[in-house]
Amino acid sequence: MKKICIIFCGGTITMKRNKKGALAPFYNAKDLLNFVPQLNQLAEISVIQLVNIDSTNIEPKFWTILSKTIKENVNKYDGFVITHGTDTMSYTASAISFALNNINKPIIFTGSQKPITDIPSDAISNLINAVIVASKFNIGVSIVFGPKILRANRTTKVSESTLDAFDSPFVEQLGTIKLEPEINLDMVTKNKDNISNNINFDSNIIVIKIIPGLSNANLEEMILSKYHGIILECYGHGNIPDSLMPFLNKAKAQQLPVVILSQCKTGVTKMNLYAVGEQAVLSGAIPGGDMTVEAASIKLMWILAQTRDIKKIKKLFATDIVGEITI
Ligand code: ASP
Repeated sequence: MKKICIIFCGGTITMKRNKKGALAPFYNAKDLLNFVPQLNQLAEISVIQLVNIDSTNIEPKFWTILSKTIKENVNKYDGFVITHGTDTMSYTASAISFALNNINKPIIFTGSQKPITDIPSDAISNLINAVIVASKFNIGVSIVFGPKILRANRTTKVSESTLDAFDSPFVEQLGTIKLEPEINLDMVTKNKDNISNNINFDSNIIVIKIIPGLSNANLEEMILSKYHGIILECYGHGNIPDSLMPFLNKAKAQQLPVVILSQCKTGVTKMNLYAVGEQAVLSGAIPGGDMTVEAASIKLMWILAQTRDIKKIKKLFATDIVGEITI
């Protein structure tokens, strides 16, 4: 049998309702294994409890701890299953994909929409499917949730009320949970040479959604000189109003990286289609391509922990590190 290490981080899967009915962390890693004894028929299971929290409270320093834990144990196991709350699962899973970009083992994130003690609950099937996928397929850092197998750094949480909580808006699914899990081999990221061993994140960035009327003066006052990196969610192909160009030009003068994403679920693919997009590129903004806001923000934090040199930032940002962007 394959050796699978479950790294337990909390989330709804092991929560219980408090006196007022709100869900809060309750059961621990050992309890989780006791609820699903069938796991021992699928693999030789070990468990490490890292934290037991609502993933709303996850902080970037936790991604470094999780990366270290996986690195320290990588030779002992054939694969890892990370149980984690769904709210920030796409962020943590993206962070691990960058930090461990050259690791050649399956690292499968899962959790559930309902606690394991609810009847019915998606907890047991999600956990079992994650362990099966981790023991059969070397598909890198992925999320197994409901019927879907997804490349982690392409995911976003889309539902709070269905059991199919995640989607991969810009690329095809990595696979599907049918009677047996099926993998779309074309979607498996090819192993690359090691790009960087960095497992740290500089979270001093900000994500801003552009809306009509957003004040240039307020942006300059609030943002410039406070942050190490900025992500702007712009219109269409990455179009930005003329009124915000002074802000962009000042950011350029300060060598601050400004990444442009689109509010459309088609990504920033042709920033020069309109003059209002072209002007942003000319003033040094970095097109974010078809990256999710989760992957783009984590990638920026990961790069900023390595360098503040704008040329190096731009080069790394435009590189496909681990399947997070279509070049
Ligand atoms: N708030 C919970 C969490 O992220 C939601 C979940 O796990 O589904 O930990």
